[in-house]
Formats: sequence, structure tokens, C-alpha cells
Amino acid sequence: MADIYHEIPPRFQVEIDREKCRLCERCTVNCTYDVHSFQGERIVTRSENCVACQRCATMCPQGAISILPGKISFAPHYTYSERIRRIIYEQASTGGVMLAGSGTDLPYRVIFDDLLLDAAQVTNPSIDPLRETVETVTYLGRKPDRMFVTEGDGKLTVSRGADYPNVQLSTPIVVGHMSLGSISYNACVAILRAAKEVGTMVGTGEGGLHPDFYEYADVINSEVASGRFGIEPRYLKEIAALEIKIGQGAKPGHGGHLPGEKVDALISETRMIPKGTDALSPYPHHDIYSIEDLAQLIGALKEASRYRVPVGVKIAAVHNSAPIASGIARAGADFITLDGLRGGTGAAPRIIRDHAGIPVELAVAAVDRRLREEGIRHLVSIVAGGSIRYAADLVKVLALGADAAMVGQSVLIAMGCRACQMCHLGNCSWGIATQRPDLTRRLDVDIAAQRLANVFHAWTEELREILGALGIDSVESLVGNRDRLRYVGPNPKVAEVLGVKHAGEPWSD
Ligand code: SF4
Ligand code: SF4
Repeated sequence: MADIYHEIPPRFQVEIDREKCRLCERCTVNCTYDVHSFQGERIVTRSENCVACQRCATMCPQGAISILPGKISFAPHYTYSERIRRIIYEQASTGGVMLAGSGTDLPYRVIFDDLLLDAAQVTNPSIDPLRETVETVTYLGRKPDRMFVTEGDGKLTVSRGADYPNVQLSTPIVVGHMSLGSISYNACVAILRAAKEVGTMVGTGEGGLHPDFYEYADVINSEVASGRFGIEPRYLKEIAALEIKIGQGAKPGHGGHLPGEKVDALISETRMIPKGTDALSPYPHHDIYSIEDLAQLIGALKEASRYRVPVGVKIAAVHNSAPIASGIARAGADFITLDGLRGGTGAAPRIIRDHAGIPVELAVAAVDRRLREEGIRHLVSIVAGGSIRYAADLVKVLALGADAAMVGQSVLIAMGCRACQMCHLGNCSWGIATQRPDLTRRLDVDIAAQRLANVFHAWTEELREILGALGIDSVESLVGNRDRLRYVGPNPKVAEVLGVKHAGEPWSD
């Protein structure tokens, strides 16, 4: 008997305008989900396979294809929403844990959208960034706790007590960790080129660094994950920073998983594992069960890199991020990365992606405040990510306490990603989240790199414009300056945790 129960109504309806269609079959070539096929002198569609990646509609020379919401409505039910029912139907068919790519699409409130920026008026005049300097250069790493002023030969000399390795960024934006494996070779090259042009830093993800990318080592932040894939002394001499990954916003408490099908020759060489084997990194680091253990690894990495680069620690934003960050700072880390609930991923259990962790806005404010209260804020820089969507989020996350913002999904979108959330399938029709050679070459490296660099340049200009409007002449003066934010959301408790006043309340005395 046919299993009628698994016939779930399609999420999307693919329609072809037969008047316009010239039967060129470009849709059949471009769709990686077998939606279109040429049968009996016409294009036939299987809408149930469609993920709305928009590739076919974009590539159709006749504009004949429409991707519409599914035609069959689910009976309205507030508790058992269409989304919930689809999950249950799918698990009833597969009996498995559902994976998902990208960041959560559940409608959690984006706290950035409940924050407004102050603007300079009369007594604190604004700054015109076209005529005056507004500094966006940012340094990541430990800072000295005091400056020394000496007098001699009739002049005062100011000097720092100690020098610590810092990464210089031309703009307070870094690219988060997206490994070769989770994204394609071409996507990696495009990101590295854009970062080099702009003057920022790129995370390797947990896959190590392919030898082809060594020429970009000076913009590389090399991740040390629990699987310890691909760490190689050759590139430790050249890289900009090292970062221990304890957690990730999209899957707090989880390790990494790259399915064996995606471990081809290229990935095998980079991760230093046999071809075709699953690259599974354990949930915890099996040598880290305390802050003291973490301090040992930080020390070992500093020694391995000859104390040349800052060593960071990345954690997922969770309820007790502030005390954890305090421990990390005291363990000798030079920067802490906080990755929030809405952060992206190449593959994560959907249930974790959608329900574990907290928004980065809350974590960054709590961590910055705690480190300042303890007088150790200078020990570490804070990097914060997890859905930094545009320049407004960048400014707000800095004002909440981050020294730099980490971006991932926005990077992919700049290069053409349609946020279909199917990265885990490895069939990305845009050549981004895939290792299939026929798909990887769809991503033109020159165009993708230029588009991404354009976004970074645009955000940096907008950052300057906002800083000018705030009457602030440098990023450094914005960091943790929560008095320049006001809350307009519905929940006063959120404002209290953020340490931000409500709109209409004046500055602190
Ligand atoms: S190319 Fe993408 S949008 Fe077009 S039919 Fe296939 S899955 Fe759907
Ligand atoms: S990278 Fe590709 S598969 Fe992943 S969300 Fe974007 S378009 Fe979809």
C-alpha cells in the first residue's frame, strides 16, 4: 500500500509561463534539486523538491519561471503551525534528526531593531566625515593597562608599558569561520581576496588552511576546534590570529560535522584526514574541562606561534557568557568572540539551531559590562556576531560593547546566497555551500570578491556617517558607549540587561 502519509503539500509552487518558455532547458541544467525535466516536448516540474533558491528563475532568459508560495493551504492552527506540522511529517518519514543550514529563521525578536541611535545636536556637535577624520581602524588583542609619561630634554614622552600582539583591521568587521568544506573553494578565495582588499580578517573554520590559501595567511584567523583538523606549523608563522572554538551560535554545545560525501581530495588534503571519512569534531575539547585547561591550550598556541599573534576564544552566546568571558580573559586570551543565537552554519541539528543560545545583543552587553566592572576589559577585545545584517547592526553591536563585528551570512548573501537554508545538502545551486565541481565553478571569484568588498566598503562609509552624526570621531570611542543607544522595544527587562535607557530618557550625568 502506498504511503500516502508522506505526501506533504509542497512549500513552493514552481510555475512556468508556457507562452514565454522557449524550451531552452536552462532550468533543467541549473536546478540542483531535480525540479525541472524535459519530457514530451515540454518542461515538467516537481514543485515538492523546490527549496526556493531562485536559481532557475534567475537564469531563465525568458523570465518565464515564477517561484510562488505553495498552493495548498494548511488549515490554520496557532499551536500546530505549518512549520511544526511539516517537521513532524518529515520525522515520521525519516525517523531522524533534522539538519539545517544557515541561521535560524524562527521569528525571535531582533533586539537590534528595538534600538535607536542618538544624534549630536548643539552642545555636542556632529562631525562631517567628508571634511574631518573619523577613524575606523580597530586593533584586536590585549591592550596595556597603563601609559607611562616621562619627562626629559624639555619634552614629555608617552609610552606603553608592554607590547602585545594585535591584529590591525581597517574597519571593525571580521569574517566569521566558514571552512573549506562547508563552503566551496571559489567562495573561500573570493572571501580572502575581498578581506585582503579591505584590510580585515577571515576565519578558517575548523578545516585548517589549504596550501593554496597560504598567500592570504596575513588575513587568516586560524581556528583550533575540538577535532584539531589541519593545524600546520607552516602557516602558523604567517597568520594574523589563532582562535580556539569552544562554541558556535548556531549549535551551542555541539561539535562540527562534515559528512564524508563532502570530504573529497581537496578537503582531505586541507583537514589532513582520509578521503570519504566523516569529519566529526567532538562536542567538547577533550583536554579542556576548566579555565586552567583552557589557559594551558592558550599558552601552548602562543608558544607555537612564537607569541607573534593574538590568541582568541570563541564561545556561543549563552546565559552565563559574562562569567565565562571573565574566566577566558584571565586565562590569557587576547580576544573573545561571542556568537549569538541567530548565527549561521553549514550544517546543524535544526532543533539546536532554532532553540539553544541567546541573542548576541544580550551577551555582548553583559560581557562588556562585567569585564569593565572587574577592571579587566583591556585584557581582551570582544568580537560579536550572529546576524549582523547591515551597518546599523554593526554600529549598535559596537555601542553595546564589541570592538568588532563578525559577519557570515551577510558575506554569503553578498556573493549571491539566497538563504534557502539548504547548505547541509551540498547542492548549493549558487556554487557557495557545495564541493561539487560542476557547481563550484558557477561562482565567479572576481565578481564575488568585488561584490563582497563593495559591501564592506559601503558599511565602513555608513559607519563613518553614523559616527559623524553621533559626534564621535573614532570607533574606539563608540565601543561600549551604551548611552548613545535608546530602547524602543516592548520589554523593559531587555533594556535593563542591555544597560540601555528607554527612548526619551536623557544622557547619564
Ligand atoms: S532552481 Fe531552485 S528555485 Fe528553481 S526549481 Fe530548483 S530549487 Fe526551485
Ligand atoms: S549558501 Fe547556497 S545552499 Fe546555503 S543558504 Fe545560501 S543559496 Fe542556500
